[in-house]
Amino acid sequence: MNTDALQAALRPHAEVLRRHALAIDADPTSLHSLLGSGEVPFRQLSGLPPEYVDDPLRVDGEPLHIRTCLARAVASETLAWGDASVVVGAHGPSMSGVLVDDLGDDEQRDRFYSVVAGTPTWTFFALTEPDRGSDAGAMTASLSGDGVGGGLLQGTKKYVGNAARASTGVLFARHRPGPLGVGVYLVDATRPGLDATPLTTLGLRGVELSEIRLRDVVVEPADVLGRHLSPTRRGLLGAVRTFTRLRPVVGALGLGVAQAAHDYVVDNRRTLRVHERASLDRFADRLHATRTMVRSAAAAADQDPTDGTLSALAKAAAITLADDLTAAAPAFFGAGSRWEHPLLDKLIRDVRGLELMEGTTTIQRLTVARGYLQGRTLDVAIS
Ligand SMILES: Cc1cc2nc3c(=O)[nH]c(=O)nc-3n(C[C@H](O)[C@H](O)[C@H](O)COP(=O)(O)OP(=O)(O)OC[C@H]3O[C@@H](n4cnc5c(N)ncnc54)[C@H](O)[C@@H]3O)c2cc1C
Repeated sequence: MNTDALQAALRPHAEVLRRHALAIDADPTSLHSLLGSGEVPFRQLSGLPPEYVDDPLRVDGEPLHIRTCLARAVASETLAWGDASVVVGAHGPSMSGVLVDDLGDDEQRDRFYSVVAGTPTWTFFALTEPDRGSDAGAMTASLSGDGVGGGLLQGTKKYVGNAARASTGVLFARHRPGPLGVGVYLVDATRPGLDATPLTTLGLRGVELSEIRLRDVVVEPADVLGRHLSPTRRGLLGAVRTFTRLRPVVGALGLGVAQAAHDYVVDNRRTLRVHERASLDRFADRLHATRTMVRSAAAAADQDPTDGTLSALAKAAAITLADDLTAAAPAFFGAGSRWEHPLLDKLIRDVRGLELMEGTTTIQRLTVARGYLQGRTLDVAIS
């Protein structure tokens, strides 16, 4: 894949996102005007499989389908320069699509994508629970029955992106104790007993984080994602490959935000003192190195999604850089700069959201440490 060509093709769309970024931050409902305006081809950028897109964008004459982890990482970074919250908050298959691709059978895939490819449709990926975000193994949302024959869902999911406006999505629930006791279910949001309400947030406000309450929600055997797979390849264990593919993409979002902060300083502080110039140069070097790491991790996830070490490392490195850079940027403009430069203030708040998405930096470091101790492939990131 020609990553430079992809980046160049998406840059004008990122500029449109940037023009709307502060308005959406101030009033997240204004996201809908942007999505409906036709200014950005969200449907073609959403990662639908080729067979569901008859009018793809073209780059160098070739149809553009953002399907690999590397393509998603490059696209997410480029567009996040404009507004990361819109990249995550736009309608489309989103994280659920990656899981459906990994675990769904042909019928489930078609059921999911037929809905998502039609009228603008949001999807949810409901894993996190109140007080059990990092420890997915401790989840308590439950499904009655044996996990494959259908049953009734009970429990609460929290901090789930787009859930209150979604039509369909994937939901993790436990039918028995232990790591093999968690299944993933394809659930329509209109089912009786499923109520999703938006939460108030400070960062990534376009994402509309939501809480989902489940009371006797019916799950049919046809909803069991990975029903054709063995118990070790479906459910939470099966989803590990999906997490490996998602983490470089969240890292790429952080990279886009970091680049936005860097460019903002360069564009708005033309005359720099020596130490300021040196600081910006160091950040530019880190951006370059971290981009290489994120793309290496994305390419490695495309090759072997069973090893999440590099993905975790890339996410942690990119978010740490984004945190450092967005925190340093206001100092280039003096006292009161977060007030006078609202974009810098937004970038700082958005990074805090990215820090939590797909696991905190501490959790990624634990994964990296485990991978290192097991002799996993860290050399790819360093080379
Ligand atoms: C913008 C955004 C979008 C999101 N989208 C989704 C979504 O679509 N679907 C979904 O299911 N969830 C989603 N989440 C939730 C996200 O996955 C969780 O916030 C994340 O997993 C952390 O969980 P928590 O918030 O409960 O924090 P906790 O797990 O309570 O962690 C709190 C703190 O404790 C630390 N900590 C936790 N465990 C350990 C440990 N073992 N050792 C050392 N330190 C530890 C963490 O690093 C963190 O600093 C989203 C969150 C955000 C902010």
